[in-house]
Formats: sequence, C-alpha cells, structure tokens
Amino acid sequence: MTKTAALDARDPLHGFRNRFRIPPGLIYLDGNSLGPLPLATIERVKQTVEQEWGVGLIRSWNDAGWISASERIGDKIARLIGAEPGEAIVCDSTSVNLFKLLTAGLQLQSDRRVVLSQEGNFPTDLYVAEGAVEILGGDRRVVAVAKDELMGNLDEDVAILYLTQVDYRTGEILDLESLTSAAHEVGALVLWDLSHSAGAVPVDLGAAGADLAVGCTYKYLNGGPGAPAYLFVRRDLQSRLTNPVPGWFGHAAPFAMSPRYVPADGVRRFLSGTPPIVAMNALESGIDMWLEVDQEELRAKAIALTDLFIELVSTFLDEFGMQIASPVDPARRGNQVALRHPDAYRVCRALIDRGVVGDFREPDILRLGFPPLYLRYEEVATAAAYLESVLRDEAWRDEKYSVREAVT
Ligand SMILES: *Cc1c(COP(=O)(O)O)cnc(C)c1O
Repeated sequence: MTKTAALDARDPLHGFRNRFRIPPGLIYLDGNSLGPLPLATIERVKQTVEQEWGVGLIRSWNDAGWISASERIGDKIARLIGAEPGEAIVCDSTSVNLFKLLTAGLQLQSDRRVVLSQEGNFPTDLYVAEGAVEILGGDRRVVAVAKDELMGNLDEDVAILYLTQVDYRTGEILDLESLTSAAHEVGALVLWDLSHSAGAVPVDLGAAGADLAVGCTYKYLNGGPGAPAYLFVRRDLQSRLTNPVPGWFGHAAPFAMSPRYVPADGVRRFLSGTPPIVAMNALESGIDMWLEVDQEELRAKAIALTDLFIELVSTFLDEFGMQIASPVDPARRGNQVALRHPDAYRVCRALIDRGVVGDFREPDILRLGFPPLYLRYEEVATAAAYLESVLRDEAWRDEKYSVREAVT
C-alpha cells in the first residue's frame, strides 16, 4: 500500500466521498468555487419538483414547509458558524446580503463615515460597498488597506470593519476573533464575509461576538450553482437594524397584506421577497449532510491535504518558476493552495485537459481547492504528479490554451 493509500484507509471522513456524484477519473480541485453534487440532492430536487410543485402546488407553501424554509435552513447553517437559532437566515445572493447588512449597519452608525476593508477583497464586496456609500452619501467612503494595516486604521471614524475571513485567491485566514474585538474597542461594527470559511475552516461567530456576517453556499457547502446565500445578525442588534429592501417576506405579517410596512421581529426582517424553493431545498440537503461533519476532523484533514500537496510540489516548483502564494503556516491557510506563475491560466487549462480541475484567478494564480469531505490523499498525489508533467513537458504552451474562456 502506498503512503497515500494508507492515509485514505485511515481517514475518518472517507465515508462522505460516496455521498457525492464525482465523475470517475476526475480529480476535482475546484469545490471552493462550485461544490460537487450530493447524491441526496438529486432525490430532494426530484421530490420538490414532482410532488411538492407538481402535485401539492400552492398548498406546498404550508404542507411542504416552503414558507419556513429560509428560517429553517438558516438555523441549520447557524450551527456551522457558531451562531444561535434565530441569528441566521437564508435568502438572496451573497452580494445582495452584503448590501443589505452594510447599508443597515451604516445607518445605525450614522455618525461615522468609514467602511474599512482589505485591498484584494473579493471584487463584489468592494463594488457593493462603493454602491452603498454612494447611496447613503454624507461623506461616507470605503477605505481598503493591506491586511496588516487593518488594525492601524481602526479609529473612531470607522463605522464598519468589512472583511472576508478567508482570502479567495490565496486562502489566507484572517483572525476573526482579534479583529472583531479590535473593531469593538473603537465602537465599530464588523461585517464578515464567510464565503470561503464555512465548510472550510471552523467558524465561531458567537465566541468572537461578531455583529454581522454573510456567506455563500454553492462553494464549500454544496448547495448547487447559484444557491441562495445566508446572512447572520447578532440577536441583540436585530431590532436596531433596518432592512434597506423591506419586502413583504420580512414583514411581521406578510399575509395581512397591510399597506404599511412593519418589520418582523428577529432575523426574518432581513428577508425581502419570495425565496427560490427548488434551490432552497437543494441547498438544505447539502446542509443536512454538513451537520454530520465533525469540524475538527475536517480541519485536521484540510491541513493534512494541503500540507501534502505543498510538500510534493515543493520538490519541482522552483525549477519552473512557479511559487506558492498561500501561507506556508497551515494555521493561516484555508482549504486551498494558490500557485503563482506568469502563464498560470494556460497551466490551469492544460491540467483540466488531464482531468485535474482547478481554476485561474487574475493576474497569475492557479488556484487549487482541497475540500476534505470528498477528496482523497491519493488524488492529491496524482494531481501533484500531473502538475509536474504539465510543467516539464510544457504542455501548457499549446496555442489552444491561450484564448480565455468566459469563466476562468
Ligand atoms: C464567492 C464569493 C462571493 C459571491 O457572491 P455572489 O453574490 O454569490 O455572486 C462574494 N464574496 C466572496 C468573498 C466570495 O468568495
């Protein structure tokens, strides 16, 4: 038995692999961008479409629990992020939820002008922040600084510290707890984007006393392409915040059809309109599986997988002018390894043609994700070997890899 086969045989998470549809022969290192399909989701979607929609029709809003899906799934996600029931809810997209919570937070902190964020934050996060400060006006502005300058820029003018916990490019983890308390010391709120965190690294919003958070479910949480996102609002803040898109689903009594808006108590006030039920149910079956996962086992395996990959590729990267862009210290690294190379896009395409699927991020990053729930140690070793052969044969120089596709 090879060393990696022995590691697979001892892996406490190995049983999860068979609960996903992963095409045979494919080494899928892009679960950080679109998580694979849980088998249970196929049945759940079939049931939703054929029975709940097909037969139940409008009655399914009550009988099949559609009306409570946002809260029900939100409560389940709460358990994955260290929140209490009633503190998280599923709705809209990550971008829209960022807008809703950032705007609400800025209105609460109306005597402060600055949204403090990090350079290199996910683009949508920065676009949304610019949009929110423009609408609210009053000298408000977004200040994006290098990660190691965040603490130094926290002062009495910061309304919200607005951060993504795990860097989408490099996988670098920010210290959620210490940044949250530093923000609180100057009276700022914190809004965390957990898109690359939940399902990848342990998150405990409650222990950190975090104020606000959002996150994506189609990456590590296997919710399906474009699955609805979630938002979190610490309980004692909920009644003090106003949803800037106050739709009927966030009303205290949606079916009273009142002409006057009265926000629901609790986190439900952050809903706007009707949720996409087929997608919600698909998401729920992914989340149900996630609730069975031991987060400590997950983290230990994530570190072991990324350590193994780094150890294997370190023997040849220098030779081909490729560098590791992720933190080498596993405590500061999420579930991915980013590799820098001037022709990273072409290397990525050549790897995909050999059945190793990663992705490319501007300007020069080959990004490989190592979700521990279904990835095997043997696949990590095979992926490293393919990378070496693509670099050694210069297979990536093939002209067909030079044209960019719409999605990289
Ligand atoms: C994936 C991701 C998003 C995605 O936002 P959508 O609204 O779902 O397109 C936002 N922020 C971060 C940090 C992400 O990683």
